[in-house]
Formats: sequence, structure tokens, C-alpha cells
Amino acid sequence: METSPKKPLNFDNTEIAFRNQSDADLNAGYWLFKVISSNFLTRVGPPITNFFLNIGLPIKGIIKATIFKHFCGGETIAECEKRIQQLAAGRVGTILDYSVEGEEKETVFDFTCEEIIRTIERADGDPRIPITVFKVTGIARFALLEKLDAQQTLNDAEQAEFDRVKVRCEKICRNAFERKVPIMIDAEDSWIQDTIDQLAMDMMRKFNKNGIIVYNTYQMYRHDKLASIKADHEIAKAEGFILGVKMVRGAYMEKERERAAAMGYPSPIQPDKAASDKDYDESLRYSMVNINEIAIVCGTHNETSCRLLTELIDQYNVEYNHPHVYFAQLLGMSDNLSFNLSDAGYNVTKYVPYGPIKAVMPYLFRRAQENTSIAGQTSRELGLIIKEKKRRNA
Ligand SMILES: Cc1cc2nc3c(=O)[nH]c(=O)nc-3n(C[C@H](O)[C@H](O)[C@H](O)COP(=O)(O)OP(=O)(O)OC[C@H]3O[C@@H](n4cnc5c(N)ncnc54)[C@H](O)[C@@H]3O)c2cc1C
Repeated sequence: METSPKKPLNFDNTEIAFRNQSDADLNAGYWLFKVISSNFLTRVGPPITNFFLNIGLPIKGIIKATIFKHFCGGETIAECEKRIQQLAAGRVGTILDYSVEGEEKETVFDFTCEEIIRTIERADGDPRIPITVFKVTGIARFALLEKLDAQQTLNDAEQAEFDRVKVRCEKICRNAFERKVPIMIDAEDSWIQDTIDQLAMDMMRKFNKNGIIVYNTYQMYRHDKLASIKADHEIAKAEGFILGVKMVRGAYMEKERERAAAMGYPSPIQPDKAASDKDYDESLRYSMVNINEIAIVCGTHNETSCRLLTELIDQYNVEYNHPHVYFAQLLGMSDNLSFNLSDAGYNVTKYVPYGPIKAVMPYLFRRAQENTSIAGQTSRELGLIIKEKKRRNA
């Protein structure tokens, strides 16, 4: 096996980053990021869009042709095929992410469970889809998870409800195990995360004995999560299973801080960005030292962390395409990282969210929020597109 990448890595190479995109695609991306870089529009956009959708105004077509097209694969698995092909052409894998959030009904949870299983079936035998994913709130009622997290006693009906959540979770992970398709469990709000962590550890105990199937997600913007990785690693070692670690910084910082302040408990979030970065990079180092016992998915758009991981791969003499090391980004973001890493020979995949337009709106609003300009600067994505447009027109 080769131990070093085939080609030198240059994250500024926008030619490689956008080579699967036509001039028209690039222009569409340019205007999209121009619009969402406006703090004002990103603030007023979500309530107005939700209002329009709720009163039935025909704006779905506009959303589908613009922001949805950029960040999502389609409304169904079949509609994602074009994206799967496009990513695979640049050696980047797809993670089909059924992005329906905030539902409350048991029938919806059962449907979502079956839909997640359909993503596993779709991935089975297709190397273009190396990993799958789900969110526990897609198969469980938020308030139930919250009650469990707060260690409140469940009544009989709630206990039966939670038993059904466990059945769904196990059904999904067993399916992944039988088809040998790895599956990640996303991280969510801290006030339901202990329950998610327990479910994830139970699934890893069951299905990671002979190789990596289930990954939990660790949000390094939480000050306690580096310690959690280390503690979970000790448990995995003692019980003889591979620890699956998808590491991210975390998507719900404002909400976390606001809730902690409003309810008067200490914020679970790191004091500053530097502290999140430090723990993120430390978790990469820790995992690479223990790479035979920990499988990682480095879920980030941070160039420094991606570069660090490539350096650690060299330092610890790990094969660059080792099955325990994946880089992952979100569709429509940081193509300069994804495609330059894959071009250099690393394992790279991208989340390809899909689902009915109205249901994926919370996901789209989060992406818009993330791409607003900071203090008048051009956002990262817009800057890359401008660079590539200039290169093509030179
Ligand atoms: C493949 C993939 C999967 C993901 N899955 C999940 C998931 O399951 N759950 C989830 O919550 N998120 C998930 N995310 C989103 C992720 O948590 C981040 O919100 C997003 O990727 C931005 O962080 P970054 O590492 O890419 O880059 P950066 O731009 O370097 O970091 C931004 C992040 O740093 C942190 N941060 C910013 N300012 C501060 C501050 N003042 N103090 C402390 N921390 C700060 C925040 O987490 C912020 O999102 C995922 C992202 C990717 C790419």
C-alpha cells in the first residue's frame, strides 16, 4: 500500500475544485452566495419563506432552482443520482442525508426509519456511496429525548415510545451492519445529546466488533467532548469494539449559549473559537495515534484542520486511503477542500441532503446563516467562486 498522497495538496487550486461545474453552475453559485452573504436577507429570509410556504404561495419552484439546487441532491434518492455521478467524477463519495427535521408523529418516524434504510440499500454495493447517516430526531420525538436526558422518569406510554425509538435505531444499524455499509449518527442539541450518545454507544457495542459500522458524532465546540472521545475510547478498548468518531465543531452555538443564559446553567460551549479549534485538532491527533482502535470522519470546512490531518497521516505513516480515515464536507461548500483532497488520493465524501423542500428548509437556513459575510468580508465560498471565475476569464 502507498503511504503518501499521489500529488501535492493545494487548497487554492480552484480549477480542480470546480472542474465539474459549468460556467452556468458557477454563475448560479456566485449569485446565490452574493444574496445569502447579506446579513439582512439571511435574517428576514427564514420567517418570510416559512410564511410563504405555509400560506401555499408557489415559491417552491424558485427555492428548488436556487438554494435547494446548490445545497441538496433532490427531493428523492432517485433525484440525487446526478449529484452522485458528479461527485464520483472527482473521486468524492456521497453521503445520502434524508434531511427531514422537527417532526413529531410516530407514523413519520416509522417512514423516516424506512427511508434511512432505503439509503443503506442504495449504498449497498455502490462504492460511490461509502457512508450513510441519520439523525435520532428523525426517528424520535424531541421532547421525549429531552426528558430522558434530564433523567426524568418516563410514564408507561413514554417508556413504550422510547422502546420503539430503540427498535428503529437498532433496525437501521443492523441493516447497515448486514450490508457492511457504515452509518453515522449526527450530533444535535446538548440537552438531548446524552441520550443520543448512549444509543450510539449501544450500537457501536453491537456492530463495531469486527470493523467500523457505526460512528457517533462529537461536537468539539463543547468543552467536554475531547474528554468524551478519550473516555469512550477506553470503553471501546475494554469491550473490544472500534470507536467510530465523526468529529465536527458544532452547528448550534448561538442556540446553546442562549438557552444556557436563559435557564441559568453554565454554557457547554467553549469560551472562544480558538478553544474549539484547539480541541478539534487535538481530537484528530488523539485519534490518529489510536487509528487501529478509532475510525474517524473529519467533518469540517476548516482548511487548517484538514491540512493537519494530512500531516498526521504522514507522521503516523497511515495509508492515505486507510478505511479508518475520511474527510467529509457538505454539498455546495468547500469544494476546494473536497476535490483537492480527493485529487491527492485521500478518502473524501460529501453530505448530499435530500427530502421534500419544506422539510429541508431548517437545513437550508443553517447553511445560509453560516455563509453570511463577517464584518463586510467576502464569504469563503463567494471568494472561491470569484477566484475561479477570474481564472476562467483570464
Ligand atoms: C460532514 C459534516 C457533518 C456535520 N455534521 C454535524 C453534526 O452531526 N452535528 C453538528 O452539530 N454539526 C455538524 N456539522 C456542522 C459543523 O458542526 C459546523 O457547524 C460547520 O462545519 C462549521 O465548522 P467548521 O469546522 O467547518 O469550520 P470553521 O469555520 O473553522 O468553524 C466554525 C465553527 O467553529 C465554532 N465556533 C465559531 N465561533 C466560536 C466561538 N466564538 N466559540 C466557540 N466556538 C466557535 C462553531 O462550531 C462554528 O460552527 C457537520 C459539518 C460537516 C462538514
